Amino acid sequence: MSLIKVGLVGIGAQMQENLLPSLLQMPDIRIVAACDSDPARAKQIHRFISDIPTMDSVPAMLDAACLDAIVMACPPQVHREMSIRAMQRGVSVFVEKPPCATLDELQELVELARQCGVRTGVGMNFKFARPVRQLREMTTSEEFGRTLHIQLNHYANKPRTPLWGLDSTLRSFLLAQAIHTIDLAVTFGQGDLVDVQSRVQRHGDALIVKGEFTFSSGATASLLSGTTFPYFEFQMKLVSSSSTMVELDNLWNITVHEPEHGTRATGAAKRWRGAWQPGPLDSGYERSGYFGELYEFFDACRTRTRFEADFESLLPTYRIIEAICRADCATDADLDATAIRGMHALPSKGAGLERLSA
Ligand code: NAD
Repeated sequence: MSLIKVGLVGIGAQMQENLLPSLLQMPDIRIVAACDSDPARAKQIHRFISDIPTMDSVPAMLDAACLDAIVMACPPQVHREMSIRAMQRGVSVFVEKPPCATLDELQELVELARQCGVRTGVGMNFKFARPVRQLREMTTSEEFGRTLHIQLNHYANKPRTPLWGLDSTLRSFLLAQAIHTIDLAVTFGQGDLVDVQSRVQRHGDALIVKGEFTFSSGATASLLSGTTFPYFEFQMKLVSSSSTMVELDNLWNITVHEPEHGTRATGAAKRWRGAWQPGPLDSGYERSGYFGELYEFFDACRTRTRFEADFESLLPTYRIIEAICRADCATDADLDATAIRGMHALPSKGAGLERLSA
């Protein structure tokens, strides 16, 4: 299969701004149909590709068009339900994050994909962003040594209310935003996830989420995230067994700190640092990972191999999300129990530290 026939689902902002422009640059991909539950939205595809049929539901599209894969950017409930429909008909699926709302749902999707023998993919574009790829290359080099610790700061200012009909702002935030950062902790941590500790603080409708994750490789990761911050910022630091530290700022600048840094002009000297940035001519879609994720997904469809960001790859990320939500509920229950025991002054919510094994 060299030419892949693709149907698009959900012609909203993410599809029009990021996925579709990447797909239009991709070799051997033919977009043959588009659907959206809002027919006017579906027809907006004609701004990009004229003369393709539009439908108002995935089942109608699967009946009308012969598809190898669908690419979907909808709410998670739709990702889950329509992935099931497509996979049962032997069609591979790429969905934007999040693929579903809970770990149980993800486990069902993983099992169905296995039974149906289809490829799956999730839009974890941070992982495919040019600077993160560069970082992955650096950290697997012999000179870098073993990654010992990953520090992740993912600052956000939304959502402050639940999304997608869910009943939890915390789960909505973790699925909508922190999923990318938690997935990077899993990617760089390597090995199996062995422990999760977390704490959630609330201030009005805003959250601060702190997490400590341990992996079987011996690496640990710490996360500071939440919606209390003034705007979106992303920072990541890794420290290795060779005492090298690399920093990534806002998916853009990489700075390398080594115990001794040698340049031709200075020779070996302490406290010099190296810097890396994407080239000024890198396309925005390659730099942000949208092109790379879709390119590799379709390559996996052609070669019938596993795509790195498939449904299964997200299981540890969802285990962490479940553990953070569970620890937060347990904190709630502890506070209720404390209140029942007649304590006069209750600690602020989230003041207790929840420890649990994932
Ligand atoms: P949006 O509301 O602009 O678009 C969603 C579209 O899906 C709408 O046009 C809606 O009519 C359509 N839709 C809803 N139910 C449907 C159904 N049953 N069948 C067909 N179409 C249906 O939302 P958006 O901002 O484009 O976000 C879409 C997804 O993309 C979300 O899951 C979001 O988390 C994800 N996203 C990811 C990133 C990223 O960094 N990777 C960034 C932004 C958004």
